[in-house]
Amino acid sequence: VSHNQVTEYLRPRALEEALALLHNAGKSARLVGGGADVALSLGNEVSTLIDLCNLGLSTIEDTGDQIQIGATATLNQVLESADIKAMYGGVLSKMLQKVASPLLRNIGTIGGTLVSAHPWSDVIPLLEVLGAQVTLYDGQYQTYDISKLYESRAIFTGSIVTQVAIPKADGRDFAAFHKFSRTGYDVALLNVACYLHMGNDGCRKSRIAIGGTPHLASRVAKVEEALNKERLTPETIEQVALVARDTTKTANDRRATGEYRKQLVYAGVKQCLSEILDKSEDNK
Ligand SMILES: Cc1cc2nc3c(=O)[nH]c(=O)nc-3n(C[C@H](O)[C@H](O)[C@H](O)COP(=O)(O)OP(=O)(O)OC[C@H]3O[C@@H](n4cnc5c(N)ncnc54)[C@H](O)[C@@H]3O)c2cc1C
Repeated sequence: VSHNQVTEYLRPRALEEALALLHNAGKSARLVGGGADVALSLGNEVSTLIDLCNLGLSTIEDTGDQIQIGATATLNQVLESADIKAMYGGVLSKMLQKVASPLLRNIGTIGGTLVSAHPWSDVIPLLEVLGAQVTLYDGQYQTYDISKLYESRAIFTGSIVTQVAIPKADGRDFAAFHKFSRTGYDVALLNVACYLHMGNDGCRKSRIAIGGTPHLASRVAKVEEALNKERLTPETIEQVALVARDTTKTANDRRATGEYRKQLVYAGVKQCLSEILDKSEDNK
């Protein structure tokens, strides 16, 4: 980033104002959450930065059936929230402890994380399986299921992400996340997120997402089908981990080979489902 490229750094105090500034400046403007990614990759055309941190969008609220996280809440704020720690056995907080470093988590916002959508993101697969909904403002508020959000990145153009809402768990909802990385601060070689709703007679609903394949997280429909109505046992887990390994598309990149990633898919699905099995047995 060149030092004299940015000529305006704006801190609007209202959402409407931020949107008007964005629309007026067009391609020369870039929104800033924490700025962790903006600081690393600013296009040559950008001369105006619009900082979103004064819009009052940093709260985390329990509305009864959802936890609503404002877009400019930092990753550490989310990690430390008592409401977040109380849901799904604290799975979101445990995942966030594995995201980058504490310093970076003090900067990075949940909104910036969703818009950057790094293919190895740890946040996106877990939010996906938890059925998160993301609200964007472009003059009107529109709420999208997170699974629809990445069908076209154009959705973010000219919009401001305002919040992420996560449905709260009932006693039969379980989730687990596993990240494989070379070191504690490194990005994922691959990650796995699982959500299961358990009925009396077995698994009623499941969502499994695998990220860093090396592509952005996607669901593994074959595993979700294979789990349907099954009792969760070590044998079922072994079977579906093999289905996951054989049906997840993986590829080579500089971090790992596609073949190695297949083994990680197997190990990650097994790990997550075994964790859920333990938790569901503790709950009986
Ligand atoms: C060294 C390093 C290590 C990392 N390790 C991990 C890791 O292990 N796991 C992981 O999951 N992630 C990791 N990350 C990603 C990191 O979590 C994100 O880069 C960071 O959280 C981005 O948030 P931000 O608020 O700083 O985004 P910003 O840099 O402010 O913004 C990112 C993008 O989003 C846009 N934007 C920001 N806020 C909004 C909004 N509210 N509405 C619309 N557009 C918006 C910006 O214009 C920009 O295009 C790592 C990043 C770095 C730099």
